[in-house]
Amino acid sequence: MDSCQSSSLELRESVRRKAVELGFDACGFARAEPVGRMAVELYDRWIADGRNDCMDYMARYGEVRNDPRLLLDGAQTVISVALNYYPDRRQPAKAPQFAMYAYGRDYHEVVKERLYRLASFIEENTGCKSRPCVDTVPIRERYWAQRAGIGFIGRNNMLIIPGRGSFFFLGELVTTLDVVPDEPCALSCGDCLRCEKACPGRALQGVSLDARRCLSCQLIERRGDLPEWVAEAVGGRVYGCDTCQLVCPHNHGAMPTEVQDFVPSPELLALTRRDIIEMTPARFRHLFSHSAVRRTRLDGLRRNALIAAKETP
Ligand code: SF4
Ligand code: SF4
Repeated sequence: MDSCQSSSLELRESVRRKAVELGFDACGFARAEPVGRMAVELYDRWIADGRNDCMDYMARYGEVRNDPRLLLDGAQTVISVALNYYPDRRQPAKAPQFAMYAYGRDYHEVVKERLYRLASFIEENTGCKSRPCVDTVPIRERYWAQRAGIGFIGRNNMLIIPGRGSFFFLGELVTTLDVVPDEPCALSCGDCLRCEKACPGRALQGVSLDARRCLSCQLIERRGDLPEWVAEAVGGRVYGCDTCQLVCPHNHGAMPTEVQDFVPSPELLALTRRDIIEMTPARFRHLFSHSAVRRTRLDGLRRNALIAAKETP
């Protein structure tokens, strides 16, 4: 392997094997090119309708979001990877509920470490450069995962891997490596509406998620007071919401992750609502300084615990 211009299947498969060796559950390859017109129009309409709610950052850097080649000079390929986070242990049903993706160590750190190792493998073997992306640069993650053949975007807005479900983190390498792309995934939800019917905020009515009605967005992204409807819909949730994934039939056979970083600590599993309401900054740092939960900050987590169902211990 000695050229960024190589288009051999063998090269592509060697990178895929390395991704699996690094623990990724899926790896696919798409040609780096502008995002398709229909996907751009749907996204622009979503922003124009205000469905991104308080996530202002989703309206920025549209030019880059619509063309991953702007992320790296000479980019030829988007490599999309997925890493399973479905836990083998869940919180007790009455505990203050955290979305399962936030049970363990921050996925940005875990996925990025592996992506850097995949980038090194590519560079050592081909000289090609790569830029790792994990939810911190403007790139259409699910779009590229679908284009790279990993799965399809479900009505719940998650990337669904056929036979394995949606409890996966996504990451990308935008790379100068030039290989034959995989076939895009052509599956869809069909006439299933389970997530739409189960959503406690009615956020999945229509063609796309409405973040103004999504508990996950409100509990995690919103600063200050929450809209009134949240207190009625929130149940025992204090960080995020997994309902539209838990009801999805594609997740009924979800297998537990083998990534130890994602295993919840006994302390997290034992947390009560009262613990959160009375939590000190030091305990918050101890529990969450390497966790996605730090995004809410302590005041946000306390705010959420105060409105969570009172029967939550
Ligand atoms: S995360 Fe919860 S509130 Fe948001 S769309 Fe899914 S089910 Fe609805
Ligand atoms: S619950 Fe049904 S409609 Fe929703 S994402 Fe899963 S398959 Fe699609």
